[in-house]
Amino acid sequence: MDERRLDGNAVGGLLGEVFTFEVTMAEAACDRCGTVAHVGETMAYVTEIGTVVRCARCDNALIRIAQNPRGYFLDLRGVSYLRF
Ligand SMILES: [Zn+2]
Repeated sequence: MDERRLDGNAVGGLLGEVFTFEVTMAEAACDRCGTVAHVGETMAYVTEIGTVVRCARCDNALIRIAQNPRGYFLDLRGVSYLRF
């Protein structure tokens, strides 16, 4: 088991610093397979260089987020839309 692989709730605190709503309850539509799921139902890979949130069905990288002294870097290219 890869200890970096966690459920999407693990990214709630980090994304909560970026978004002011409860992001784990937002629905994200996967740009690859079309699955619509709450962010909390996805899979999060947390490393020291950043976090990747992946679709639980097809493993597509939905959200990439990194933080450094210059700020947050957020890539949502794997998401067709977020609904909240
Ligand atoms: Zn997918």
